[in-house]
Parts: sequence; C-alpha cells; structure tokens
Amino acid sequence: MQNYHKSAKLDNVCYEIRGVVLREARRLEEEGHRVLKLNIGNPAAFELDVPEEIQQDVIYNMHYAQGYVESKGLFSARKAVMHYCQQRGIDKVDIDDIFLGNGVSELIVMSMQAMLNTGDEVLIPAPDYPLWTAAVTLSSGKPVHYHCDEQQNWFPDIDDIRKKITRRTRAIVLINPNNPTGAVYSTELLEQVIELARQHNLIVLSDEIYDKILYDGTTHVSTASLADDVLFFTYNGLSKNYRAAGYRSGWLIISGAKHRATDLIEGIEMLSNMRLCANVPAQLAIQTALGGYQSINDLVAPGGRLYEQRETAWRMLNDIPGVSCVKPQGALYLFPRLDPKKFPMINDEKLVLDLLLQEKILLVQGSAFNIDDKQHLRVVFLPREDTLEDAMSRLGHFLGNYQQ
Ligand code: PLP
Repeated sequence: MQNYHKSAKLDNVCYEIRGVVLREARRLEEEGHRVLKLNIGNPAAFELDVPEEIQQDVIYNMHYAQGYVESKGLFSARKAVMHYCQQRGIDKVDIDDIFLGNGVSELIVMSMQAMLNTGDEVLIPAPDYPLWTAAVTLSSGKPVHYHCDEQQNWFPDIDDIRKKITRRTRAIVLINPNNPTGAVYSTELLEQVIELARQHNLIVLSDEIYDKILYDGTTHVSTASLADDVLFFTYNGLSKNYRAAGYRSGWLIISGAKHRATDLIEGIEMLSNMRLCANVPAQLAIQTALGGYQSINDLVAPGGRLYEQRETAWRMLNDIPGVSCVKPQGALYLFPRLDPKKFPMINDEKLVLDLLLQEKILLVQGSAFNIDDKQHLRVVFLPREDTLEDAMSRLGHFLGNYQQ
C-alpha cells in the first residue's frame, strides 16, 4: 500500500516554534515531568486573564452568536475598529476597509494568498515572527529577509532593505512592536520605510499586535498614520493586548492608496467569503475590548506584572556570563545573544533540546525566527517573577557548564 504524503507546496514551509523541541516537551510531560514553557506568548496560560468585562460580554452575548455573520465581520465590531483607527491617526478608514479574522494569523495567510503570484518577493525582518515567512512561502512567494541590527536596538537596516528591493518585490513587512526582539520603531524609521515603499510601489504590511504592550513610557506610532499615498495593511487583534489568544480574534485594516487596490481587495473579499466568517462569539468581544478599561496599561507600568517580569528576566539574563540582551521596549519577549567566544559554533536547536532535557525549561532557538546566526534564544517573560527567577538561574547554571 502507498503512503500518504503532504502536498509539495508545503515542502519549504517552515514553522519551528511548534516543531521538534515542542514534541519532545510533550513526550516529557506524558512521562510525568513538569515542563516550564517559556516558548509561546500565551498570556492566559500564566494567569494573565482576559479582563472580566470582556469574558462576561462574550457569555452574555452567546445567544446572539449562533449563526454565520457577514464574512468581513460584525458591523458593531468593525465600527469599534474604525473608531480605533481614528484614535491611532489612521485616516479615511471605512467600515468596508476592515476584515475580521480568526486571529491575525488567518488574516496574514489570507492576505498573502490574495497578494502573491509565484516568485513575488516580500521583504520580511530577520529575526521575524515566522508565520510571515511561512505564509509567503505557502502562497508561492519568496520571502527575502532584511537585517535588523542588534547594535541599533534591533532597528531595521534601511540600506539592507533598499539593496534587497527587486522588480519582483511586492511588499514589506514591519513587526512593531517586534516579536522576538521587543523593538519599538521611531517615527523617523517608519518614514524611511514608507519612502522606500512610495518609490518602489510596495505595500506596507504592519503587524501591530503588541501595540499596547509598551514599557518605559515608549510610544507606538501606527505606520499607516504617517501617509495616505502608500497602501497599508495593518494587523491587530485581541490575543495579546487583551490576553484573549484563545478567542482567535483579529482584524486587518486596509488604508492609504486603497483606490489602487480594488482588484487586490476583491481577492481578499473572495477568500474571506470562502471561509464564511470568523468565530462570532469572539467578534462580539471586540467592541467591549476596544472601548473598555485598558487594563494592559496597569500590567506594563512600573509595579505591574509584565513590567516587573521583564525587569527581572532581563537583568538575570545579562548577569549570565557570555549572555547579553537588548532591553525590550515592547511585547512579551527577550532575545538574548550567546557570545560566540564563549559558545562557539553552537547548534541552537540542540542547545534548546539539551536545556529541555536537563532543566525541563522550554525556550525557542533563535534560528526559528529566520536569522542566519545560531547565537540567540527567545525567552517569553509571561510567568510570575519567582518562576522566572528560578528559570533564569537554572538557565545560568546550564549555560555555565554547557559544551556541545
Ligand atoms: N503576529 C505576531 C507578531 C505574533 O507574535 C503573533 C502571535 O504570537 C501573531 C501575529 C498571531 O496572532 P493571533 O493570535 O491573532 O493569530
């Protein structure tokens, strides 16, 4: 009998955050071990709950969530997103420019499917959130990674972006605030990217899912608020700012040079129609989330859980000999570097696997985020401070004796 194979279009699609190492972690758990998961940005798994008013809203409205709704999403939810655009300075957004999806993830895949022909190139940051690279590859496009400079607080290297633009480049992705580096970009940097997009007729794809998770008084500027003559796709949702990752609720806002994108928007509408609509109970939560009490602000202020956890994990990482880490200004992650003099020629996936087997701590290897070097790790700082303290000191102990 013949075996069943996956399709060839998946051959080069790579998504390692949930790869080999995670499977090993599951095996350990099945054997009865307790694994500390610092691998996925899932706030609710660490008692960072969805605000009560949002939960109550979903429960109360469940009765009204029984049927399909318009494929772009509920009117009330999209109205709330429109209002949000106004607050963020994204001008001239109509209700029809907003698409609700089952998380930003679905909308990323959907928009890449709609946008790309075989061989079309998309500029993606390195390191990236790897769904972007996977979605471009799945859509028969070619991901082209641009360099983000660790020495410059992980800001994108504009010259590198410029050099990598070709006739086939369709779009440029910005992840701001950034996963995995925690960088939050300045207006000046965003304007430079927009200028390149303007000159080369590129679409700017701005993933802003962490736009309210900001530390040390950092402000976030929405890329699309800075111009109206370039086409912008802005992605956001409930997973992080409102800790509702399990609701699977996100939105895509199309703004700027929309008049030149009628055909592309039709393509997105078609894909959106094909899946009928996004999860309706979660759409009902959007209005309350965006209009309600923004409890995330308490969590990121000094004394708040996320702020203090970031401080502790960052300080303890930098105290480990041979480890250095740029301080994240946003999001939920640290991206420490292992000095090649102390850790020469390491295989970062093997290191993460060895750490898991020895200390039962689960991290993600830096190379899963599509950077060339194997000298980085990604640490999620969602667990409570005492757990993080324990994890960081065990990591220090592990690295102190580590050899491959
Ligand atoms: N974009 C970035 C930068 C992320 O870090 C994540 C999840 O970690 C997503 C998108 C996916 O978000 P969602 O839960 O809305 O699908």
